[in-house]
Amino acid sequence: MAEYKCFFCGKQVNEKSLRSRFSCPNCGMKVFFKPRTAVKKIKAI
Ligand SMILES: [Zn+2]
Repeated sequence: MAEYKCFFCGKQVNEKSLRSRFSCPNCGMKVFFKPRTAVKKIKAI
């Protein structure tokens, strides 16, 4: 399951809770981003 982070307060919100109500349960903001796709791990060999 995809996990999102609130852009404003940084609280983690999963996709399931966003489907029923697209807003942060902590601060009510409606801007989210995916931390997994935003952070890239690169292995340097
Ligand atoms: Zn928030």
